[in-house]
Amino acid sequence: MIKAIIQYFSDIFQGVKSLLTGMRVTGYYIAHARKEIITQQYPENKDTLTMFDRFRGEVIMPHNDDNEHKCTGCSACEIACPNGTIEIISDRVEVDGKKKKVIDKFIYHLQMCTMCGLCIPACPTDAIKMGQDFEHAVFDRSKLTKILNKPGSKLMKGVE
Ligand code: SF4
Ligand code: SF4
Repeated sequence: MIKAIIQYFSDIFQGVKSLLTGMRVTGYYIAHARKEIITQQYPENKDTLTMFDRFRGEVIMPHNDDNEHKCTGCSACEIACPNGTIEIISDRVEVDGKKKKVIDKFIYHLQMCTMCGLCIPACPTDAIKMGQDFEHAVFDRSKLTKILNKPGSKLMKGVE
């Protein structure tokens, strides 16, 4: 009988201890809420929302005002990607009497991308980077397959 009573109170003690442990983080944020508000009121703040620097939303290929990019079509990013998200279709054109490899299509399957970022450092010319757009919801899955080099774009001068 005494053993059962001791066990009963021990269980209550363990339950309360476990509850307080779980509530410790919650309590911290209640106490520091004014200084460290981290919840964003999305989509109400859509116009002013800026993602933090480290956020990885998608792979993008920046182009300059002359519609030039830095992608040589070397395929290093395609090889670095662990799940076949990138497909490089290249072509060979004659420049100064020599055959040179150029990018035809940089195909990016956003629906397969895990945002691991391995393709970014693999690129020898810094032609791609992680963009911060996160609104990728579509009704047609095929819209998630993108061509990153813009129509009519070409390799930036001086990039080899
Ligand atoms: S971020 Fe990762 S998964 Fe996405 S394309 Fe680059 S290497 Fe592939
Ligand atoms: S993005 Fe970079 S690594 Fe990928 S094909 Fe173009 S130049 Fe090569």
